[in-house]
Amino acid sequence: MSRVYNFSAGPAVLPEEVLKEAQADLLDYKGCGMSVMEMSHRSSMFNDIIVEAEKDIRTLLSIPDNYKVLFLQGGAWTQFSAVPMNMMNKHHKAGYITTGQWATKAYKEASKYGEVVELASSKDKNYTYIPDCSDLPITDDMDYVYICQNNTIYGTEYWELPNTKGVDLVADVSSDFLSRPMDVTKYAVMYGGVQKNIGPAGLAISIIRDDLITDDVYPNTPTMLMWKTQADKDSLFNTPNCWGIYMCGLVFKWLLKNGGLEGIAKKNADKAKILYDYLDQSKLFKPTVTDKKSRSNMNVPFVTGDKDLDAKFVAESKAAGLENLKGHRTVGGMRASIYNAMPKAGVEKLVTFMEDFEKKNLK
Ligand SMILES: *Cc1c(COP(=O)(O)O)cnc(C)c1O
Repeated sequence: MSRVYNFSAGPAVLPEEVLKEAQADLLDYKGCGMSVMEMSHRSSMFNDIIVEAEKDIRTLLSIPDNYKVLFLQGGAWTQFSAVPMNMMNKHHKAGYITTGQWATKAYKEASKYGEVVELASSKDKNYTYIPDCSDLPITDDMDYVYICQNNTIYGTEYWELPNTKGVDLVADVSSDFLSRPMDVTKYAVMYGGVQKNIGPAGLAISIIRDDLITDDVYPNTPTMLMWKTQADKDSLFNTPNCWGIYMCGLVFKWLLKNGGLEGIAKKNADKAKILYDYLDQSKLFKPTVTDKKSRSNMNVPFVTGDKDLDAKFVAESKAAGLENLKGHRTVGGMRASIYNAMPKAGVEKLVTFMEDFEKKNLK
């Protein structure tokens, strides 16, 4: 068996320890004679799994009691609709900051349900920075302000939350979920698909302040899109993604064992620094995000400026066991996603490979 260093943006690398644990449990979970994939979601065995998972994510993020944690299906995309359907109930108006494709998709989806104001955007420079959010045209009649906290495609991340002038903040944290401590009380809703930084695809986690869980939703909102439906049933209204919840639970334990979010944040900053430090002095590779205070610690796009050379790099790096480095088509070049489960050794190997490639290909 040989494992590659997988720099995929998502679904993405999982901790090897966790995969081994899942493997050991696969055929016979804790002596019950079946796998987690085969057991009833109404069984006490599964109930222990979901209760424990919720307890552990609450510990990791210090989630206050007045926030619900929902384990949902439909990915982050479904929350693009659920957010306006559940929250545009006072003024039918919201403000969005568009810092990339995911924020723009969420903005377009929300505009089906009410008035949506674009408060700021970084589109003018192909989303390579986070705009100044200290004094945005936010008004009291907005039901919420929306951000995408880490821009997976463009490699930018909010290191400071916008000044929302007292309006509720909603954040899509799909690609920096549990990558560092976050103060949940500063958000009305924090949600994300888990397949970037936490677990396998097919599960989204929404952390929602409980006063926002209400029957007062957009007319004819589907039962499954009302947060109240799952909140009232502790995410067991219908069959949840049992396997996904189990895997996320193992990852929560792995994080707790490794210093919690403070611990992982340090490791993530350390890995990102190794890569950015190299990129900033390289004569061949250039980081696409030059605004240092906007740089993501999770997704790092870079280019050589020569399409053929980029393609050569992607092919040769793959042959060296460095997988999925091809960049997103709208940015071009390469992108290294260095989520929680990417070991430091993977980033070091990447940088060594890049140094070597630079020596051979710099004209
Ligand atoms: C991947 C991603 C999404 C889409 O997630 P799905 O689970 O595929 O719907 C949304 N937002 C961000 C920031 C992402 O990185």
